Amino acid sequence: MFKTLDLTAKQNVNQPEQVAEKVKCLIIGSGPAGFTAAIYAARANLSPVLYEGLQPGGQLTTTTEVENFPGYPEGITGPVLMEDLKKQAERFGTDIRWGMATRSDFSGPVLKIWIDDTHLIEAETVIIATGATAKYLGLEDEKKYAGGGVSACATCDGFFYRGKDVAVVGGGDTAAEEAVYLAGLCRKVYLIVRRDVLRASKVMAERVKNTSNIEILWKHQVRGLFGDGVVEGATLVKNLGEAGEEETKIQIDGFFLAIGHHPNSEVFSDFLDIDEVGYIKTVPGTSKTNIPGVFACGDVQDPHYRQAITAAGSGCMAAIDAERYLSAKNG
Ligand code: FAD
Ligand code: NAP
Repeated sequence: MFKTLDLTAKQNVNQPEQVAEKVKCLIIGSGPAGFTAAIYAARANLSPVLYEGLQPGGQLTTTTEVENFPGYPEGITGPVLMEDLKKQAERFGTDIRWGMATRSDFSGPVLKIWIDDTHLIEAETVIIATGATAKYLGLEDEKKYAGGGVSACATCDGFFYRGKDVAVVGGGDTAAEEAVYLAGLCRKVYLIVRRDVLRASKVMAERVKNTSNIEILWKHQVRGLFGDGVVEGATLVKNLGEAGEEETKIQIDGFFLAIGHHPNSEVFSDFLDIDEVGYIKTVPGTSKTNIPGVFACGDVQDPHYRQAITAAGSGCMAAIDAERYLSAKNG
């Protein structure tokens, strides 16, 4: 049994025998979690091989200023931070390669991963650091104003909107949490909810309702954004498709998406325990999955924090867990 991603890469799935490359520690993903795991694994003599995937450097390569990663008092840009992490992983001998893990087979004693459906790796340990992707509404304006007022992370970008008006889209716990967080920084927060009820837990919903500078816009959907180069407002539709449908506009400087994340776990989901959203389940306080020798770190196993520093911290945990697993196994 295996899971395949539909990539354009040539497939040789039906070939009977493949010569496998043997690897002591295979790391999948090149975000803060993957590179930190690589630094620790390389320094522990695990000779890690790391595959970068389709987004070398991970999510932070899509942002400009990162102001909350410890050690950079003046802040640092996402791409430079990730280049530095890569160099640090290389310095200790990590073998960093292009390629995408497209299939896995953890059913037997040997952990098998296929890269681009062609190259088979048999690994003694696998560290999964494939991240999670924020969902967007799919509006052209989200791309147009990327880096100019559109964000999917209030903790990351809220600071830039101190004293200003912003909107959060979504009605779940993430939207509620982000709205409350932003309400502590911003003058006003609009919470744009497509139904007439919040999906968020009761306690979070109450917190939102009790925050005086949050205005919930019930049964509203976003039609578009406007502004000269940066977001200055959003065009909304109330009661879409119903009698009384009406278009309204709000003036905002920041537009925050909080409609869920998609953990990149499909390749492993036939073998690993995952939750209903797709996050890989790990034993609390560790990076261990349900398969011995397979560890998960970073956003792919973290529905709660999803920060660069927590991803890096859990990457460190994964490498230490892998090293201890191998020590115990090999005596
Ligand atoms: P990611 O960074 O998502 O990296 C995942 C990696 O896995 C990528 O390299 C990808 O190519 C690879 N991959 C995925 N699937 C496969 C596969 N099948 N095979 C091989 N490789 C694969 N956090 C902060 O702390 N501060 C900030 O200021 C901040 N700003 C942000 C701004 C933006 C626009 C975004 C989107 C996020 C921001 N974050 C910020 C959140 C932060 O980027 C993430 O929490 C962090 O990058 C997660 O790290 P990760 O290593 O788990 O995964
Ligand atoms: P979620 O529970 O799936 O909620 C997503 C929200 O976005 C829903 O309100 C949904 O609306 C809305 N939405 C989805 N697509 C939309 C669209 N195209 N347009 C407008 N609205 C859209 O996701 P989440 O809030 O990220 O939470 C994920 C999981 O993590 C949940 O289990 C949650 O409980 C958990 N979590 C917990 C905490 C906490 O305990 N503190 C914090 C964060 C997350 P509908 O309701 O109409 O579907």
